[in-house]
Amino acid sequence: MTQAPLPLGVFAGLGEGLDASLAQIQDLNVPTAQVHAPPTEKLDAQYARQVRDKFEEADIDITLIFCGYPGESYASIQAVRETVGLVPEDTRHERVELTRQIADFARETGAPGIGLHVGFIPEDWDTPEFAEIVGVVKGICEYCRAQELDVNLETGQETAQTLHHFIEEVGRPNLGINFDPANMIIYGSGDPLPALSHVGQHVSSCHCKDATWSDNPGEDFGVETPLGQGDVDIRKFISTLVDIGYRGPLTIEREVSGQRQIDDIRQAITLLKSIRQDLMEG
Ligand code: MG
Repeated sequence: MTQAPLPLGVFAGLGEGLDASLAQIQDLNVPTAQVHAPPTEKLDAQYARQVRDKFEEADIDITLIFCGYPGESYASIQAVRETVGLVPEDTRHERVELTRQIADFARETGAPGIGLHVGFIPEDWDTPEFAEIVGVVKGICEYCRAQELDVNLETGQETAQTLHHFIEEVGRPNLGINFDPANMIIYGSGDPLPALSHVGQHVSSCHCKDATWSDNPGEDFGVETPLGQGDVDIRKFISTLVDIGYRGPLTIEREVSGQRQIDDIRQAITLLKSIRQDLMEG
């Protein structure tokens, strides 16, 4: 399906079971979704083809398969630093392997790429660790390129300058950014709108998510809010996306659960439709 510019989407898991998860997305009536990779035991081609067929039947485009790794903790900024993504050395090797399996899975679903949190990329570009992580991501990009998949790095834990430099150092054409403006506020890594302009040419997907700054940015988490109620300035965020030439999906992420999540996503859909209409008509 060819999408109109800036199609709406949601970031969804399959944890409720494929049919139930899909029914939830259909109920929201959005044409695209980013999908969390299933747990390792379900990362096989047969399940991937079931996912592909069911989403096709529902006329929903899977725009990314998102990687997650066992042992990650988002309990505090320090926990994220120690446990998330490909930066922690102890788990790096097994997570690279798992990323390859997720890429194989993504290819079978027909998704155009994978997304991942690489972890806290060192702000000191001259460290051996920085060079090592550049090498790791190069390897993943090459593996994915052979399968015609893109690799999108989620923003959040690093400054725009570091992310930009990192991407240039990796230097692979299938590497892009999944820009999440709220993460920059939650982790205290910089004002998201100038950051978006700075890395603009590399943005190939995004999360529409909002948050308020903490009193100690970078030490304590900021707080995620319903879209439009935080410090991101969503209207300006979307208009900046349009200004940098982005026409891809607007994927809503809301990290609460149950009915509250559904209600907040519905409200976000209404808000984004109104902003999109104003921008596209204006
Ligand atoms: Mg996100």
